[in-house]
This record gives sequence, C-alpha cells and structure tokens, in this order.
Amino acid sequence: MESFREQIKLHDLEDEVSLSFSGCHGLCSIGPVVVIYPEDIFYCQVEPEDVPEIVEKTLIRGKLVDRLLFKDPITDEAIPHYHQIPFYMNQTRILLRNCGLINPERIEEYIAREGYQGLAKALYKMSPQHVIEEVKSSNLRGRGGGGFPTGVKWDLTRKNPAEPKYVICNADEGDPGAFMDRSLIEGDPHALIEGMLIAGYAIGAQKGFIYCRAEYPLAIQRLKIAIDQAKEYGLLGEGILGSNFNFDIEIKEGAGAFVCGEETALIASIEGRRGEPRPRPPFPAEKGLWGKPTNINNVKSYAFVPQIILNGHEWFSSIGTEKSKGTAVFALTGKVKNTGLLEIPMGTTIGEIIFDVGEGVAKDRQFKAVQTGGPLGGCLPSDALNLPVDFDSLTASGALMGSGGMIVVDETTCMVELARFFLQFAVAESCGQCTPCRVGGNKMLEILMRITKGQGKMEDLDMLEEIAKFMKKASLCALGQGAPNPVLSTLRYFRDEYERHILDLR
Ligand code: SF4
Repeated sequence: MESFREQIKLHDLEDEVSLSFSGCHGLCSIGPVVVIYPEDIFYCQVEPEDVPEIVEKTLIRGKLVDRLLFKDPITDEAIPHYHQIPFYMNQTRILLRNCGLINPERIEEYIAREGYQGLAKALYKMSPQHVIEEVKSSNLRGRGGGGFPTGVKWDLTRKNPAEPKYVICNADEGDPGAFMDRSLIEGDPHALIEGMLIAGYAIGAQKGFIYCRAEYPLAIQRLKIAIDQAKEYGLLGEGILGSNFNFDIEIKEGAGAFVCGEETALIASIEGRRGEPRPRPPFPAEKGLWGKPTNINNVKSYAFVPQIILNGHEWFSSIGTEKSKGTAVFALTGKVKNTGLLEIPMGTTIGEIIFDVGEGVAKDRQFKAVQTGGPLGGCLPSDALNLPVDFDSLTASGALMGSGGMIVVDETTCMVELARFFLQFAVAESCGQCTPCRVGGNKMLEILMRITKGQGKMEDLDMLEEIAKFMKKASLCALGQGAPNPVLSTLRYFRDEYERHILDLR
C-alpha cells in the first residue's frame, strides 16, 4: 500500500487512481493480491519492489506485467483477469460477494453494494413475524455445523414471553485449518451486523453480543470500526433508520478455549463464568444469557439473512439441495493446489471442490482422503469424491459439515497419525467436567500413541471403537461426542493402515 501511495504520488496520478484495500480474496496460496479496476487485472504475490513496474506499465501505459499474473497450476497458462481464474469461476459467491471487493472499513462501500437494504425492508415493509416466516421459508440451516433451521430457532426465542431477549453471534471459530468466519468478518463486517440487526428486530431483542476469539485481532478491529460507523449512520442505537427499533451490539473476546464454541459454554463465558457446557434442555431460546431467551447463530447464518430478506426466500431456496439450501463456505487447505476460501452451492460434490475449484492435489500426488468438519468431523476416502456436500450426506458418510473446514490429504500422509493429531487436539481442549470425554479421550489417545509407536495389538482396534461409541453416547457436549469421529472414520475407511502399524509392516 505504501509503495503504491508513493508511486501514484510520484507520477502525479492522485486524481486519476483511487487506492483501496479490501478483505481477503480467498485464494490464499498466491497473496498478496492486487486487482486493478475497471480492467479487472489480477496480480499475485506482489512485493513492494514490483509496484513501480505495475504503476509504470499498467496504470500509465495500459500493459500487463506478465510475471505477476496468475498461472494456472494445471495448464501453466497466465490468466490476466480476476473472473477468468478457475478458482473464482467455479464458485457462487453470496456470503463472500463483498470479500476482496469492498474496503471493509468504509460503510459507504457496503451501502453501495445493497448494504442495509435488507434491514430497511424488514423495518419498513415487514412485521417481525413476517421476517421470521421469510427466514423459515428460505430453509436456512445454521452454518455453525449443527444445521438446525434458523427461522425455527428465531421463532422459539420470539415466542418466549420472558424479557429481555438477546442475540448472540458465535464467532469463536477454533477448528484447526478453518478461517471462514474470520475472513468473512475481516472482509465484510457490516453483513454480520446487518444480519444481527434483522434478527434482533424479528425476535424482539435490543442487545446483541459478538463472541469473537481474541486470536482474531484484525476481525475485532474491523468489527469495532463497523459498529462505530453503523452508529454514526443511525443503524445502531435508538430509533434505527427513524423507526422505533433500538438495538446495540457489544463485542466479547474469547480467551482461546475451543469448548467456548459450544453455545452454553459461550453463554457462561459472556456472563463472566468459566466456559463450560451445561446440559440442554433448557436450550438458549428458553433460558440463555442471564437466564433470558437468547438466539445464538454462527457468523455465516446471520450474514445470509440480509440477502434472504432482500431477494426473498424463493431465491435462496432455489440454490442447493432439497434439504440443504443456499451455499456453503469452505476453507480448503492441506495438499491441494489452490488453498483458500471458497463458496459453492450445497450439493456440489467433494470432487468438484477439490479438482475444479482447488485444481487438484499439489505436487501432482495422488488424492488419498479429505477431512471435513474440523477435529470433530471425519476423514473420507477417494470413493467420497462423488459425495454431494450437504448436511445430511456428510453426516451419513461418517464425516460432518461442521462450520466449513476441508483438509485435503495426499498419499504421503499416514491416516493413523492424522487421526491422532485431531484426537490430541480434542483431548487438550476438553473442559474435563464429564468422565466419558475426559477419561475416554485420554484412553483412546493412549492407545493411538501405542499403535503409532508400533506397540499396538489387534484388540486395540476393537477397544478404540468401543470407547468411541461410549463417548459419543455419554458425553455431555458436541466436543466429547465428536472427538472420536476422526478415529472412527479412519478405522472405517483406512483400517489396513492401523493393521500395518500393529504388524509393523509400514
Ligand atoms: Fe467438557 Fe468434554 Fe464433557 Fe463437553 S464432553 S462438557 S468438553 S468434558
């Protein structure tokens, strides 16, 4: 940015060229990215010393700097224009539509892209119940991983007669390899704020909290800026847009505990108590924050809402599969050529995501498996490449939709080691209050360590499955229930690798 500023000044282009930064474009493997509009020229891996050449050649003479163009990893062809790059061409960007395009620190740029029009429509043309019916009819399911119908949750909170009511956004994204919520907040913070405002209006709440992990300082900084700007524009506070609707948002920083992503632990943490899950029911819609009716949704669930209100439920439900509507955002990482953040319609197959958007396995190695749903999800083998990505298909296959992490594994990765890595993460993050999770997780880890050291026995595999089943049934929260999933799914699809470790045939 500094180099561009200097060069633009040096060439006296300040009246002709406007310089702006944006949130993440999504194609993480080739950043930093510079896009030149209106020509739509896309330069990648730009260093400060490249800037004089870009300004001189492209801005002044209208020529390309070939060495900075995106090179297709398959054809090795240089692609000059942003929207011709296969990574973007194969996406349907609804949630990410502004990421990489607008300056997230300028509310005016969000407003220019239909920002806050969904809120205005809700306040002036729809009753709160009408808003809830619209969200219900869209069949939007919670993007935190659970997939519970968002409109139904809102309705339950609205119908609870207790007052006051609260709206909470869960931005405590803690899965290794996942950065969907972070990028969305960093790239388009007003979409979240607008979604929460509409939820507050529909539910009858006047106060919202965004629980964001402290490890996301840029996301928090941009949220603070966005909240201040929304207040200046009369979009937060009292009498929003001249109506009688009042709403305010406060940011709460999480202290890094993975288990605080569980809604009851998150509520306890906001209340200033130790972040430990509690049994449900009562659900937050019945007794949530400070015992009051509370609606909790993930960042992505809220950010969909303004578009649904603006474009109607038919538009949203025309995208996706019969039971999973809309799009899904994935953080595609691991051994894939195009790592990054992408958005595809529900029902797109895993193979299309990895091979069309991701352009295949890096270093031309063989695809072996994909882990979806983070540390509580599962590993799927190459047979799963035709599996459509939606809540039900992934759960049935032994993996999970989760909040959107997708890690590609190639032939060089040991599946037993991979399962051990995820289990170790879950065991370290267990809050320890219930025995099946605390003891079961450690016991499974102990067995896995033994197997990876070549000291395992065949009976250990049955023991792993038995403990896992017990943990899934008897643990209090999703962490203990989901922790065995990577082990169970690798035992299901890659049992031979466990056996080879035990028989020392590696
Ligand atoms: Fe804590 Fe694990 Fe029990 Fe959840 S399942 S409450 S993380 S001990």
